[in-house]
Amino acid sequence: MDVTQAQGTVLVVEDDSAIADLVGMYLRQEGFRVLLAEDGERALEIVQRDRPVLVVLDIGLKGASDGFQICRRIREEGTTPVIIMTARGEEVDRVLGLELGADDYVTKPFSPREMVARVRAVLRRSAHQGLAGQVLIAGGVEVDTARREARVGGRPISLTAQEFDLLEYLARHPGVALTRRQILDGAWEPGWFGDERTVDVHVRQLRKKLGTALPIATVWGVGYRLE
Ligand code: CA
Repeated sequence: MDVTQAQGTVLVVEDDSAIADLVGMYLRQEGFRVLLAEDGERALEIVQRDRPVLVVLDIGLKGASDGFQICRRIREEGTTPVIIMTARGEEVDRVLGLELGADDYVTKPFSPREMVARVRAVLRRSAHQGLAGQVLIAGGVEVDTARREARVGGRPISLTAQEFDLLEYLARHPGVALTRRQILDGAWEPGWFGDERTVDVHVRQLRKKLGTALPIATVWGVGYRLE
């Protein structure tokens, strides 16, 4: 599916109007409807009311809530993909953002083109499982590819788009020791921007959310294997 034809609403949350306008302009050129919010409270209202297909979220916001808190709130309410923008560029920010459920991040300064590429990549990842769904079994986890839902004992477990893609990839390769690079290319997309540490972050999240229901073994010097 061509993302440019799947026009939807993207919410840009940024209190620096120069950056918000620039990102907004490029996204509009790509065919998206763009809504802007200057603070977190407004952002949450828009998420609930307008149901954007994706949120671009600045971490350093003025007001009562910073981007991390907003990211957590968005994640609690649904599966809307989130790309965080950070000015600090520190690894801790990036890792914390991913642990809070962000699907990707960009570090300022970034080019608007790079931002657009990431928006498209995240949307492609969350949409690429199409109509021919099946239910894969990974240990004690049911991986429903049509509903994009993971269930343990029949109970749905809330996962981000990226976590679900990783889980599905593992479920399709049981018993195989997979390198981090293979997982990055296979679960997400070839040549994905992220470094291999991203895999570790998402595996940790899956282990935390799915516990012993998901038997992922760490293969030292290689990567991971679904038992
Ligand atoms: Ca800011």
